[in-house]
Amino acid sequence: MPIYWQQELETMPRSGLATFQLERLRETLRRAAGSPFYGAVLARRGISPEDIRSLSDLDKLPMTTKEDLREHFPYGLLSAPLDTVIRLHCSSGTTGNPTVIFHNRHDLDSWANLVARSLFAAGARPGDVFQNICGYGLFTGGLGFQYGAERLGALTIPAGAGNSRRQIQLMTNFGTTVIHAIPSYLARLHETFRELKVDISRDTRLRILVIGAEPHTEGQRRRIQDLYGVKAFNSYGLSEMNGPGVAFECECQNGLHLWEDAYIAEIVDPETLQPVPEGVVGELVMTTLDRQAMPIIRYRTRDLTRFVPGDCPCGRSHRRIDRITGRTDDMFIIKGCNVFPMQVEKILMGFPEIGNDYLIVLETVKGVDEMLIKVEISPHFFTGEMEPLENLRRRIQEEIRDEVLVTPEVRLVEPGALPKSEGKAVRVQDLRHRQGE
Ligand code: ADP
Ligand code: ZN
Repeated sequence: MPIYWQQELETMPRSGLATFQLERLRETLRRAAGSPFYGAVLARRGISPEDIRSLSDLDKLPMTTKEDLREHFPYGLLSAPLDTVIRLHCSSGTTGNPTVIFHNRHDLDSWANLVARSLFAAGARPGDVFQNICGYGLFTGGLGFQYGAERLGALTIPAGAGNSRRQIQLMTNFGTTVIHAIPSYLARLHETFRELKVDISRDTRLRILVIGAEPHTEGQRRRIQDLYGVKAFNSYGLSEMNGPGVAFECECQNGLHLWEDAYIAEIVDPETLQPVPEGVVGELVMTTLDRQAMPIIRYRTRDLTRFVPGDCPCGRSHRRIDRITGRTDDMFIIKGCNVFPMQVEKILMGFPEIGNDYLIVLETVKGVDEMLIKVEISPHFFTGEMEPLENLRRRIQEEIRDEVLVTPEVRLVEPGALPKSEGKAVRVQDLRHRQGE
């Protein structure tokens, strides 16, 4: 039984991988130079693809930001004739106006292959029944996983987002073995399993969960694994780099292999833009190596992670990144302290009494900025009374204060009381700007 989707590429010795990357980088630059945006940028800097003699010359190339993509919307980065382009996707617009990415036939083929490889690494196999529980349409998780799972040879159910009862019906009707969904939704879906009295281990054939598209902590993953009784594998990607299939956990679950034959990854200090030492957290910067219609060079993802040092026992040579701890633009400053939502989640997930949903509200009270954290009680724990929970509330407050160095107001709320979003969970509501308007 093969244990890799593409053994030669996935286990390529690092020196060979570097040569391979350099070749593809040069080709990528040649293509990129054909777009109005990169054509002008490279000309201004006097750089031609031939100037890139080794991978260390990468830093001669400018970085690309989300603002560049927005400013040159829609066609500024397109480097192939429009009539060879066959698909476009937009990012979800979590942090502002969306951006557009174009693909030609080669690009879609390459992407599907990367997703198939990723699913295979997590243990999915041809013959699995793959239920894709996420928004289709412009969001890349839908079609990205659809084509990838088909490429793998799985019976692929394009279930779409929401409608939990129907999701469970599909699972039991067709014997779903692998599910892809965002983590915040899986916690909610599990409630419907309970309501319907469907026992996952008895009534379904589920064996693998794939979770991604939004930041989540190791604690959140463990909770999901406990609820479903199967392993949950972290899937990382972003529209600008195709979507899913950029970095994925293998069966070792010890970091996400970033597919280095298709991307060059750098991790830099977001202030100085200089590389950080190996193992240190910084901003992930990526260059596409196998995209023709719209190559992107040194894209600042704004996602924070680190390279996991050492080799993976699975034998894949592609480096691993750690789970994303947040986005540089997720961070908020309150009372002079920098806080990431995942720091709060990490503490919350340590309390079995609380559920999976929480909301951080930043507001100005009597001229002072305050952090209010609304936390849902776990339905398994909630008795209908809030008063006996005062002690719990205080403990949560103290632990969060010790982690983020600001004392929050913690408010426990009933299960299901917080607003739910169809797509990615909204963890922070910043009302500070609106007050006094
Ligand atoms: P948007 O930037 O509008 O959300 P995308 O749909 O392209 O658009 O989402 C990509 C972003 O989602 C990534 O840059 C990252 O911030 C987040 N993301 C994707 N997968 C993961 C993951 N496994 N863990 C944490 N964050 C993730
Ligand atoms: Zn591995």
